[in-house]
Amino acid sequence: MSVSALEFSQQLSAHPKSAQERAAILANPGFGDYFTDHTAVIDYKADETGTGIWQNARIEPYGPIAMDPAAAVLHYGQEIFEGLKAYRHADGSVWTFRPEANAARMNLSALRLALPELPEELFMESLRRLVSVDSDWIPEGDGAALYLRPFMIATEAFLGVRPAREVSYRVIASPAGNYFGGELKPVSIWLSTRYARAGIGGTGEAKCGGNYAASLIAQMEGEAHGCKQVLFLDAANDNAVEELGGMNVFFVFKDGSLVTPALSGTILHGVTRSSVIQLGRDRGLDVQERKITLDEWRDGVASGDITEVFACGTAAVITPVGELKTETETIGSADAVAGPVTMSIREQLLGVQTGTVEDTHGWLTRLA
Ligand SMILES: *Cc1c(COP(=O)(O)O)cnc(C)c1O
Repeated sequence: MSVSALEFSQQLSAHPKSAQERAAILANPGFGDYFTDHTAVIDYKADETGTGIWQNARIEPYGPIAMDPAAAVLHYGQEIFEGLKAYRHADGSVWTFRPEANAARMNLSALRLALPELPEELFMESLRRLVSVDSDWIPEGDGAALYLRPFMIATEAFLGVRPAREVSYRVIASPAGNYFGGELKPVSIWLSTRYARAGIGGTGEAKCGGNYAASLIAQMEGEAHGCKQVLFLDAANDNAVEELGGMNVFFVFKDGSLVTPALSGTILHGVTRSSVIQLGRDRGLDVQERKITLDEWRDGVASGDITEVFACGTAAVITPVGELKTETETIGSADAVAGPVTMSIREQLLGVQTGTVEDTHGWLTRLA
């Protein structure tokens, strides 16, 4: 890394949105529809030996990216991303949640997608700089935050197949309200049996756009069946539950255990997942990371042994699952209400993030 890369240059937007326009957006931000006035950028360039440096770190006005039509990302999908949030606390300070975990995960994704690792200090500084310049964009209110989307793309113009030697790291930010909109109602989930999102040795553990592209057809199938999210089983086809297209999943048992599928190599290492495991242990639940099959889910709901199911991820935090629909059956009920364990863990997690519950694990980092 070149040390000078830590020094960000800054060019402010000549056409930032007006205060009125911003206020209207912040009153009803939705998810991922609006973006702040600036973006953080750091370029990477390597020589033929693969030795490269990060350089030209900057804050620039938000806007279209000029790219060569032969840029590798447009042809071979060499891309990774991250997602985390910035929260404004009551005293006006701005914090983010476990960003070092996102920095580490982005570097694991980079390794898998043959992209360069980004030093954690640069990742952190890019967030700090962007949030400082766009701090007026942090929405307030229940579950609202500024969603930060760091990503890395291969920009080298070259159609041969090899890792690109020119890469761009960027961060954009989007004010976010409640992910699924409206009140916290249990969601219906579609079980994809025709499509897999990950296979052994594939990219399931990497946070890359390709995984999402591969999940869209299953998502469409789910939507046609009235479901907002899709659950994937493991591709080896032994009926083990893996995760949703973009969220991990947990099962609350009557006996006080909290079960989530073990990280098998094909499941994304969710920061929310890891936090829920810790919060579950803190409150004395018997947290188990293990294989859980569709049969155990069906039988557990029928017998009453499984009392709650929820999905978790940064965007939607914790979302109760009402029912799982498949081609042949429905497990659970669309009329289910959010269970007490789900709601209590959700409140605690949101409380730590927004500064109303004590951060006993040192999960918060101040950005501004
Ligand atoms: C990002 C993501 C998650 C959730 O991870 P968090 O770090 O909790 O936001 C889960 N599954 C997939 C496939 C993801 O891409």
